[in-house]
Amino acid sequence: MLPYQTLQEAEISVGRNLTFGEALWFNYSARKSDYVLYCHNTFFLFIFYTVLPLPYVIVELMRSKKIDEFKIQPKIKNSMSDIIDCYRKVILTFVFAVGPLQIFSYPLIQIIGIRTSLPLPSGWEMFCQILVYFVIEDYANYWLHRLLHCKWGYENIHKVHHEYTAPIGFAAPYAHWAEIIILGLASFLGPVIVPGHMITFWLWFILRQMEAIETHSGYDFPWSPLKYIPFYGGSHFHDYHHYVGGKSHSNFASVFTYCDSIYGTNKGYRYKKEVFEKTREKLKGM
Ligand SMILES: [Zn+2]
Ligand SMILES: [Zn+2]
Repeated sequence: MLPYQTLQEAEISVGRNLTFGEALWFNYSARKSDYVLYCHNTFFLFIFYTVLPLPYVIVELMRSKKIDEFKIQPKIKNSMSDIIDCYRKVILTFVFAVGPLQIFSYPLIQIIGIRTSLPLPSGWEMFCQILVYFVIEDYANYWLHRLLHCKWGYENIHKVHHEYTAPIGFAAPYAHWAEIIILGLASFLGPVIVPGHMITFWLWFILRQMEAIETHSGYDFPWSPLKYIPFYGGSHFHDYHHYVGGKSHSNFASVFTYCDSIYGTNKGYRYKKEVFEKTREKLKGM
């Protein structure tokens, strides 16, 4: 809850006129507790999870020869009932794992000092913080994910996420509840090391979820602007990890490719990509 009663008090405290965004934030959050604002995160995750995969669902249901050019595993087709079944299973995980994790992680948010006060962070500050969160999460996720591929971790936890050997957008968060908690820790690590504003915190989780849905979409569109992000793995990179399945010792990183390059866990993928590119070039020449 903001420690000001009126906009004028907030302006005196900040020492200048509030920007349009800050006035909006004041009007929205002044009477809400920090806990209620924190719980918005769960709501946003639910909404974005439900809406963002829908364009991929439409594309999947409208499959044609042209669309199959962009499907990473074109032999795999998902019906409407497959997709609804995946959505239903993930919503159950939301209720039984993500929700409780939200409730019990609030004290951590208080300890690390995620602030809700004014002034709001600048766009540049948010960009830099979220970039740091992505790098930290990617590194932690790489090792935790690799650990989940040990015999015990895979058999008891991680094999649930690998049920989809050809993933779809809705399957991005499809995982055992223990995996949600383990990999959730990696997502919290950035804000723990570099705590910021609640808006930055929301945006970080939304962007991370958008990225996970894109990498699990099953489609690789050449015009995607994400291809211009240096070291970005993308859907093709993570799809290979699912394609290989339980025996996968390749492409563990969640967002970028540099960890797999440094630790030599991208050899199988590089080989397959080379073969794939050569075959495609041959087919083009025919
Ligand atoms: Zn895996
Ligand atoms: Zn995955």
